[in-house]
Amino acid sequence: MKAYFDELATKYNVPVENVLSIALNRYGVKTNDFLDQRVRFSLNFSNSDLESFFALGVNTCLSSPFLLKGDLLYLEDTVIGKITKLEKDTCTSTYFRNNKKAITFNSNSRSKCAGCKFCGTYNLTDDDNIDFSTKQKVKDYFSNLLEENQIPGMNNIENVTICTGCFPSEDDLIKHLLLVNDAFLEMGFSGSLNYIGSQLRNKDKIKGLVNHISDFGIYLTLEKFLDREKFMRPEKASLTLEKAKDLLEYCSSLNITTTFLYILGLESLDAVYYYFNYFKDSINKFPIVQVFQNYTLEQENYRYEDAKNIEYYLKAREMIDSIFSDKKLTFKSWECFRGLHFDKSALERKLKK
Ligand code: SF4
Repeated sequence: MKAYFDELATKYNVPVENVLSIALNRYGVKTNDFLDQRVRFSLNFSNSDLESFFALGVNTCLSSPFLLKGDLLYLEDTVIGKITKLEKDTCTSTYFRNNKKAITFNSNSRSKCAGCKFCGTYNLTDDDNIDFSTKQKVKDYFSNLLEENQIPGMNNIENVTICTGCFPSEDDLIKHLLLVNDAFLEMGFSGSLNYIGSQLRNKDKIKGLVNHISDFGIYLTLEKFLDREKFMRPEKASLTLEKAKDLLEYCSSLNITTTFLYILGLESLDAVYYYFNYFKDSINKFPIVQVFQNYTLEQENYRYEDAKNIEYYLKAREMIDSIFSDKKLTFKSWECFRGLHFDKSALERKLKK
């Protein structure tokens, strides 16, 4: 397998760590050390100063060539890196990205949300069950969070992205976004507030939000292009691709950050090519593409046959990069822990050596 990954790295002109990262996300790890279904850790690849963060399935893919033993990660019989900060991967309400300058906020208990075949958050420990129903509760929670992480104030945070389970209605979601925005303003936050989901559909209501929230972004969870109703909760699947395109175009016309999320590994590369082109002029930010992970053994059955091979992801990466290159949009690797792109700045550091 190592020789094959080296070959792919040469063929697609990417560092082998990039191929290994994609493979880790695709396969997850095997281990006999513990029983948890998900783990997260930082990984330092051998012979490299590159450090990356992973959140992976454990023993959820029988063909995984990666073995975690103690603090060492093996690719078959070869040690490929050392891990640190190992912990259970749960539905925690909040976590940091980008050197603690960005926060992902799961404010509406994703662990209680269910219905999408590729999602496994509801199989995890529900440690995201916190009451954020009032401004004061949001403020108290964030004050503690900042203090625990030695961050002087919300003015040190550049963006907060709300990525959460479905709300009972669009109006409930809007009420929540306004409440969080008000709480943050009172705490001195002046960064961008983004919403990841697909429950905001009404243009007038979106315009109303944009008038209230000074730097707002919409990251639409398209997830999949074909057979959407077979894979997703009815509320999510009810957004047709035509409606999604119209919505994204409208949001872009308001000059707010507009993009979509896609789970790679569930359908053909022809579909990826067609629909990334279909959507490319509707967005103003590089799409967030996530390698499909198995939360359970059964989910491997949803993986498109070609996507069982790592080359599928490298081909997709080339394709997507080339679709967006003429729009001058590029990725931010810290925004996606299971993306197709390895940490560029770390890579640049390596190349400068
Ligand atoms: S909407 Fe679907 S993908 Fe999102 S948390 Fe709920 S079940 Fe998971």
